[in-house]
Amino acid sequence: MNRQTGAVLVLSGPSGAGKSSLINKVIDDIGECYFSISTTTRPMRAGEVEGVHYHFVTKEEFQKDIDNDNFLEYALVHGNYYGTSLKPVKDALAEGKLVLFDIDVQGNTAVNNRLGEITTSVFITTPTLSELKNRLYKRSTDSDEVIENRIKMAKREIQRISEYDFLIVNDDLDEAAQTLRLIAQAARLKVSNDIINDFVHKWEDIES
Ligand code: ADP
Ligand code: 5GP
Repeated sequence: MNRQTGAVLVLSGPSGAGKSSLINKVIDDIGECYFSISTTTRPMRAGEVEGVHYHFVTKEEFQKDIDNDNFLEYALVHGNYYGTSLKPVKDALAEGKLVLFDIDVQGNTAVNNRLGEITTSVFITTPTLSELKNRLYKRSTDSDEVIENRIKMAKREIQRISEYDFLIVNDDLDEAAQTLRLIAQAARLKVSNDIINDFVHKWEDIES
């Protein structure tokens, strides 16, 4: 069964769980893929680069993108807006690529509503809440107030793990990365109803 279109892999999980670390570790090992760079109104962190980690915009610029229907999905997360631009995703899917999203639970619901047939989702978390706190404080990219807010959000996000196809507990980074490589392979093999119908149609033709 040849795949005509690409596939989507959604990664969600509390801020500080290790999503970026895992993506960086596997991105060169999972074949042709496109990492969706979100647009955000959140301030840039030390070490972040415009156009690499995010497209950093003002609230007014973000609102313009909403008005022009430029987003596949967008959400208010921790008081800042984050959105996924539609066009580069469409282009990457048309090229048969695996499109990776690092988006929150609201984004996962929206992507599943629009692209559910070709979407696989994975929730990534630390083994415990206290380990999450350790990592956020150790990363030291956010103020104490922002970190406390993220921890509050994490307690809510964790209640929605059952909405995901897979769970990765990111304890040992290498082991977690290996699991993510396997999930990326599985995501590519997921077949949409169109592809199944096409296959069944051709299969019946060959029989007759
Ligand atoms: P996220 O993208 O989910 O917000 P990061 O990838 O920025 O998370 O990771 C948060 C912090 O935890 C970083 O300082 C990172 O180096 C560290 N980290 C990631 N994975 C592990 C792990 N398995 N064990 C220990 N520290 C980790
Ligand atoms: P951070 O500020 O730590 O980079 O990201 C905060 C949260 O926003 C994370 O849960 C991340 O997955 C989520 N996020 C990043 N980009 C998007 C996006 O485009 N859409 C949605 N819905 N969430 C996003």
